[in-house]
Amino acid sequence: MNFLKNFNFKNKTILIRVDFNVPLNNNKEVADDSRIVASIDTIKHVLNSNNKVVLMSHLGRPKGKDPKLSLFPIVKKLESLLKKPVVFFDDCIGEKIEKSINDSAPETLFLLENIRFYKEETKNDIEFSKKLSNLADVYINDAFGTSHRKHASNYGIISFFKKEKYCGLLLEKEIKNLKLVFDLKASHSLAIIGGAKISSKINVIYSLINLVDKVIIGGGMAYTFIKAMGGSIGSSLIEEEQLEEAKKIIYKSKENGVELLLPVDSVNSKSFSNSVDSTTNIFKIPKNNMGLDIGPMSIELFQKNILEAKKIIWNGPMGVFEFSNFSNGTMLVGKAIAKSTENGAYSLVGGGDSIAAIKKYNLNKKVSYISTGGGAMLEFLEGKELPALSALL
Ligand code: AMP
Repeated sequence: MNFLKNFNFKNKTILIRVDFNVPLNNNKEVADDSRIVASIDTIKHVLNSNNKVVLMSHLGRPKGKDPKLSLFPIVKKLESLLKKPVVFFDDCIGEKIEKSINDSAPETLFLLENIRFYKEETKNDIEFSKKLSNLADVYINDAFGTSHRKHASNYGIISFFKKEKYCGLLLEKEIKNLKLVFDLKASHSLAIIGGAKISSKINVIYSLINLVDKVIIGGGMAYTFIKAMGGSIGSSLIEEEQLEEAKKIIYKSKENGVELLLPVDSVNSKSFSNSVDSTTNIFKIPKNNMGLDIGPMSIELFQKNILEAKKIIWNGPMGVFEFSNFSNGTMLVGKAIAKSTENGAYSLVGGGDSIAAIKKYNLNKKVSYISTGGGAMLEFLEGKELPALSALL
């Protein structure tokens, strides 16, 4: 793979696939700029020596040209981060754009409109890849968050840049840090998986059972496990069709000698709201209550294991942390991970909600690495090949 340290182009136009799929608020301002900040080093690294730089990204899942998902709001944020003007195109392909780029002054920075406004992007349409490639001489991929997808801008396009294809600084950092999970031979490795659904994380749980010594399961998905073990979970989140899978995971972890840690108590509510109605043994949740957070005894159990761990992977909140009364589990698990990191453990955090939680509790500088990819990180940890990375080889 070509890394940017070997990059020495002058007078070229460089197309960078970035991941600016960021949340926007109601005023159409960037609500969380982490993904933009994460690619700034790559942009700065090449925006010199008379090079021109063209940035392309998707935002959300538009069906056709949807003004609500325009990348235009990102211009202001980019300009303030780079202290440089950004030229925005309201399209992402075509002769008009090619000509504008050609006619522009050296070291101009461009941002293309949302590439998913064309359905050809997610279909990995080769003609669309070609049109994107017409914009530049050199291609850089810095969008780790989409590397598990085979799209026109991160996969098909590569065939048009035989040698001039590079791995961006963020992508390089992501690969290095995620590989550490496999390479660090630390004993006491622990994975903490939470969030709403088992179904979306089932494969990664299986891979983790082969990778770590202990797995903590929290969040909404824990209740399916508890039900599978014969517990009464009231009206808590349940995936009936995953009950058998949950039993298999319990069996498989025993077979592999992996300790599977489930919550022992639960903080419950009569409705999906911020009011706490009971805190009970997780096997004995009252009929009309739903579990929305792990209880104090579970927190203590998880904290103890986190503090003993030397390698920690975290994906998914322990409860509905968006409700203040149900945020304790996620907050205290996050703080324990920070403490363990301070004591020398390696900690990797990924997934939109875990990152939001880490930031909410100001722990972002207290973990070893925060991956910008949710799905991509999970697939990497599953040992799956990420097509956009393989294409860069
Ligand atoms: P995921 O995208 O699968 O990581 O799920 C994240 C979401 O799971 C967050 O929005 C949480 O509010 C939600 N969640 C966590 N615990 C629970 C729970 N006990 N019941 C319902 N939703 C939950």
